[in-house]
Amino acid sequence: MSDFEECSGCGRKLKRGEVKYVIYISIVSDFDGVLPVCDDEYIEAVIERGKEMSEEELDREVYEEMAFLVCKSCRDKFRENPFSNSQDSDVFRRRHDRSFN
Ligand SMILES: [Zn+2]
Repeated sequence: MSDFEECSGCGRKLKRGEVKYVIYISIVSDFDGVLPVCDDEYIEAVIERGKEMSEEELDREVYEEMAFLVCKSCRDKFRENPFSNSQDSDVFRRRHDRSFN
């Protein structure tokens, strides 16, 4: 085992025993209950798009998990502004209240 790991955010070397965090991200395809109008042209376009993608790419279209090891500073920055929006952006105002359960 190496004596350190690197922060996924800033690249700083994190010493063993140092305070650090893991950011888990789940990207889940959302469905609002409304299907688009499915005429033949639309269905054909969906099928063609699917043919061009690998099984792995198709899976990622529906669900994907990521994990990042970060230092406290990068954790704080991520928590404050996960999309790195401009200073006047209010990203948390737009945050969804969906349950993670
Ligand atoms: Zn960092």
